Parts: sequence; structure tokens; C-alpha cells
Amino acid sequence: MAILSERVQKLKTSSTLAVTAKARALKEAGEDVVSFGAGEPDFPTPANIVEAGRKALADGKTRYENTPGTPQARQAVADYFCERFGRKVGPQNVIISTGAKHALFLSFLALVNPGDEVLLPAPYWVSYTEQAKLAGGTVKVIETDIDNNFKVTPELLEKSITPQSKIFLLCSPSNPAGISYKPEEIKALAEVIERHPQLYVISDEIYERLSYADYPFQSFASANSKIEERVITINGLSKAYAMTGWRVGYAVADESIVKGMSKLQGQMTSNITACTYPALVEAYKGPQDSVAAMVKEFAKRADHIYERMMSIPGIKCPRPTGAFYIFPDVSAYFGKKDINGKVIDSAAALAQSLLEIEKVAVVPGEDFGAPKHIRLSFATSMELIDKGLDRIIKYMASLH
Ligand code: PMP
Ligand code: GLU
Repeated sequence: MAILSERVQKLKTSSTLAVTAKARALKEAGEDVVSFGAGEPDFPTPANIVEAGRKALADGKTRYENTPGTPQARQAVADYFCERFGRKVGPQNVIISTGAKHALFLSFLALVNPGDEVLLPAPYWVSYTEQAKLAGGTVKVIETDIDNNFKVTPELLEKSITPQSKIFLLCSPSNPAGISYKPEEIKALAEVIERHPQLYVISDEIYERLSYADYPFQSFASANSKIEERVITINGLSKAYAMTGWRVGYAVADESIVKGMSKLQGQMTSNITACTYPALVEAYKGPQDSVAAMVKEFAKRADHIYERMMSIPGIKCPRPTGAFYIFPDVSAYFGKKDINGKVIDSAAALAQSLLEIEKVAVVPGEDFGAPKHIRLSFATSMELIDKGLDRIIKYMASLH
């Protein structure tokens, strides 16, 4: 067996992708699995976008393009940011990458030196810690309180900052907690950032369109003009346009940062798949009704799953106001036994037992920095949500 680098040996496997793959394999083997694993919309990519990709291929868009993206695609993203967030950005502020995931990784690589601190509120998405560490950063977790909807307060942020702090990473609407910050909460955090000129913000806004709170979405970079140049906004088409498999995401940032990221990308992946650029332009310039329909459906599912989840004794969780995740605290059940006599002593043990006994896949909270929780993605039909919840309710009641 090969001796892999220490880098790889220390790296955790993505637990979100691992659960999704396990559920898929069980389904393919004929098991009646209900999967709450995958963080991807269950809707098809809108037909006008598929058609734009198909036409691009037919038109011969099969060759290398400019590393940070075609001028048209970068312009489309810049226009979107001007129209939607009132930003004065141009194509030079945009780099298009292989999913938001790679845009994030490039951001860390472009900004972080060994030993620099990455301030990360928990619960966090599983890939942040691993990417930050791959870039040589030291992750400093900011613990938040479920009773404050897992939100970082300005006081908590201020207290966490040291001279070594380089990045503050925020994800709103959040994966895995499904919560979203109010505009005034983002503005208060931006004021803290303003007082610390060595700090950069990576604002992961991939769920920005999937927001159904009774207050508007606030983009971090437009919260405070004095820190705009220090904010890297991450976004993409995976969630809003149900395009996870297309692998198209991007960063919007100061031109110097975009140039640094582009230099990295030029040595890593070059450009993204060429026929995807016209699809991106179509997504942003074409009709938007499918996004609205999807958000409406997610909002409906969020209410339904929340009500049913809260009916389970001992469960505690914030009401989702964005994205498509619910993140219950299941620790009231720790220490009990399942019907096979196995002791449920962790979220991972509960997730495994739930899959074995009831064939329901959920992601355990450990790798999200929240070991009392499990994550359920409700990017699945109402019928499957109910089928899965019936099983979860039965399973929880069977623990003794
Ligand atoms: N950020 C968050 C918070 C996510 O949930 C995801 C979903 N995988 C991503 C980034 C990456 O998305 P993608 O690479 O599909 O654009
Ligand atoms: N963002 C999704 C999730 O958290 C997709 C899987 C991944 O890339 O982690 O489930």
C-alpha cells in the first residue's frame, strides 16, 4: 500500500459526501432507504439553462477558456452583484471556479500563511476546517449558543480576534443549521471587522437565494463600505439553480485577490468546463420563476419538518429560515440502547443505528463541530420527508 502524504493522512473524508454515497449504494442494492443526507436540490436544472449548455456544446464551446472565466460570464456575475446587492464591481472582481467549494479553497490558499488563524463559528460546514488546514491555517472555532440560534454576536467575534487572526468565515443562510442572520446582525459584525484591518472575511453566500426568513438577506460586503475590499464573497449556481453536478461557483473580491486566486487556478484546474459559462449567463439573465418556485417549496417543507421534529420528546432545534437543513440536538437520547442493544453514545452512533434499523440516512454532527446534533437535508419530496420522519419517530421511541 502506498505511503500517502501526511497532508492526506490528516485530512478528514467529507462526511456529507460519504453519507450521500452510502445511501446511494444501499438504494442501488435494493434497500428502501430514505436519505436526508444530500445537500443538493431535488429539482432538475431549469430547462432554459440545460438548453444553453447544450447549445454551447453544439456551437463548439469545447476548448480552453480564460482561467478566471469568459468575459461574458464574469460580466454576468458582476451585473448580478450590482443589481442584487448594489455593489460597484466589474468582471475583474470575479473568478469562476469548479463549484463554490473550489472558490473557497482558492480563497484560503490565496490569503492564508502557515499559522494564520481562521475564525470559524460552530456549527460549520465540514469542508471549511479541512480546506483551511490544507492551506496551513489554524482553525479557531467560535462556539455559539443554540438559544441564540447559533449566531455569532459582535462580542463573541471581538473576543476571538488575536494578532494572528487573518480570516473570519461566515455562512448565512447556514449549512448545517439552516439559520440566517438579520441585516442588523451582519452590520454589527462588519463593525467589528472594521476595527481590525488585518482581518479578511470569507462570506459563504451559496444559500443566499434560498432564504425564507421574514427579514431580507444581507450580503456581508454590502453591509459596510469601509470593509468591502476585505470581503471575499463565495456563491455559485449549485443551490439556487439546482446545478450541483455542473460544478460552477465563483468568488467576488478585490481585484488583487481575484488575481491571486486566478494564478492558483491556472496551475490547478485552468477554467471550468467550457460549455458551462453560457449556462451561467442564461441562469443569471434568463427567467427566474423556477428559483421562486423552489424557494416556496423549501419554505413549506421547512415548516413541516420543523413542526414534526419538535413533536419528538427531548429534541431541540432552531427553526430553519434558509437553505434546506434542519439540525436537531438529539443528545437527550445519548446513553440509551437501540433494539439491538447497542448503546447510542454519540451522534455518529445514532446516525449509524438509524440507518441500520430504520434505513434513514442523516449526517452526524461531529464533523460540523456540533457533536450533539444530526443534520437532515429536506431537499427531498414531502412524501419522503414524511416517510423518513415516521421512521425517525418510531426509532426514537424505541430507544430505551
Ligand atoms: N458552501 C456550502 C455552505 C455548501 O453547503 C456547499 C455545498 N456543497 C458549498 C459551499 C459548495 O457548493 P458547490 O461546490 O456545489 O458550488
Ligand atoms: N453542501 C452539500 C452538503 O453539505 C453537498 C455535499 C458537500 O459538498 O459537502 O451536503
